[in-house]
Amino acid sequence: MSELIKKVVIVGGGTAGWIAAALIKKMLSNVVDVELIESEEIGRVGVGEATIPPIRYLNSALGIHEADFLRETKATIKLAIKFENWRVNGEHYYHTFGAPGRSLAFCQFHHYWLRSKKLGNNANLWDYDLNYLCAEANKFAPLNHQNPDLEMLYAYHFDASLYAAFLRRYSEKIGVVRTEGLIEQVNVNKDSGFVESLVLKTGESISGDLFIDCSGLRALLIQQKLATGFEDWSHWLPCDRAIAVPSERLPETLPYTRSIAHQVGWQWRIPLQHRNGNGIVYSSNYCSDDEAANTLLSNLSTKAIGEPNVIQFRTGRRRKQWSRNVIAVGLSSGFLEPLESTSIHLIQSAVVRLIKIFPHKGINPVSVAEYNRQSQIEYEQIRDFIILHYHLNERDDSQFWRDMRAMDIPQSLTQKIELFRECGLLFREQDDLFLESSWLQVMLGQGITPRDYHPIANHLTEVQLNDMLANTEKIKRNAVALLPHHDEFLAQACGA
Ligand SMILES: Cc1cc2nc3c(=O)[nH]c(=O)nc-3n(C[C@H](O)[C@H](O)[C@H](O)COP(=O)(O)OP(=O)(O)OC[C@H]3O[C@@H](n4cnc5c(N)ncnc54)[C@H](O)[C@@H]3O)c2cc1C
Repeated sequence: MSELIKKVVIVGGGTAGWIAAALIKKMLSNVVDVELIESEEIGRVGVGEATIPPIRYLNSALGIHEADFLRETKATIKLAIKFENWRVNGEHYYHTFGAPGRSLAFCQFHHYWLRSKKLGNNANLWDYDLNYLCAEANKFAPLNHQNPDLEMLYAYHFDASLYAAFLRRYSEKIGVVRTEGLIEQVNVNKDSGFVESLVLKTGESISGDLFIDCSGLRALLIQQKLATGFEDWSHWLPCDRAIAVPSERLPETLPYTRSIAHQVGWQWRIPLQHRNGNGIVYSSNYCSDDEAANTLLSNLSTKAIGEPNVIQFRTGRRRKQWSRNVIAVGLSSGFLEPLESTSIHLIQSAVVRLIKIFPHKGINPVSVAEYNRQSQIEYEQIRDFIILHYHLNERDDSQFWRDMRAMDIPQSLTQKIELFRECGLLFREQDDLFLESSWLQVMLGQGITPRDYHPIANHLTEVQLNDMLANTEKIKRNAVALLPHHDEFLAQACGA
């Protein structure tokens, strides 16, 4: 198709729809008009409240001030996820956004730590991680970026419905047209198969050149109309249901998400300024909705303030994220369960990718293929990281956990695990969202201790090694001691 792309139509006004609207209008306002259609009758999925650090680039690209964002979305700071009971009951570890220690040019920090362990030092690797120390002390303030030892990577927890409303106000202000209405019909061109227009329940017809399907799990355009197909990953990630329920806030707001493994799945606890978000993720093959709901409700730390909401999903990805003139963004493009809070990031990166490859002179197959290739790699890398948590468990209290341990995993993941187990080596695949420090923390946390470390770590004498480790910890602990509590920071930053 060689027609100019002058109008983008976004179907759906959840987190995906409004991120797409805001970013495309902000970046391409001189190229395209943007119209978003959403239906209050259908509503949004209503979950998705924990994020990862790249969201700060999104805010920055949109020119959103942190204080406004924190206030309007009742957001809190997220430094890490605390995984409880994931290896065995009663143990926990953190996956922080920081990195334990600082890696040197040819040798990652953990090799020095591994050597010191062999020499009898029992220090916890996370003692060298600023995010961990802050999380444990419940403290936070952005730190001095000039000093790499004190760089703090963080993200947010926010109220999903307030976030969509916030982005809606932002988008309408910069010229996005919002239309309320239920789409009942999708018209495609008989020859090209391209979507031409959408017909609302009111009879109104809306046409466009490029359509972004942000219709959530319904996948109205990409699947219901274009039948693009779905690559099912439920043999690796069998959880297919979640129950979500809000509860009262805790007296102290934690700066991290809690992920608590239970016999039948796992539970999230997300602290917001005004409430907690809670939910349980489980597989209907192993557990009934009633059993899951009971587990969730009997493990809330505060009183529930809403009705439990059951959500069904399937793990996997759309075979093509971009098909003809439709691009699926958000839940319509696929879903990886929320264990590492990656879905909102996948929205952001899909929209950024689209802007970079934007077909302003008309859609060409090479650009579409490149877009789909990058999307596939991104999904697969995140999939492997999530499988890692389940597969390395040592729990023996249910068939669910035993099966997760026994399952065949993708070859790409086996290779990563074996390399780390053998010699502590970790390499970041090109553009992998998760850095070496993420893989390191989860592999160690789930019980792998490498058999060896890199010999460069032997270039320090034992005294030098001990000094280096002690100094690293001291610099970080001293910095943390001076920081305000998380709630003080929120009060100061946005009057929370
Ligand atoms: C249990 C669970 C927990 C999650 N937790 C996290 C998390 O912690 N972190 C994270 O990053 N992500 C999380 N996610 C994912 C996150 O919720 C989604 O990525 C995010 O909310 C985007 O959803 P969406 O906009 O694609 O869909 P939705 O919010 O469902 O929006 C769909 C939109 O399409 C509209 N629509 C649909 N059909 C029609 C029609 N016919 N006519 C008009 N409009 C229509 C709806 O009205 C709505 O506006 C979680 C998901 C689940 C299921």
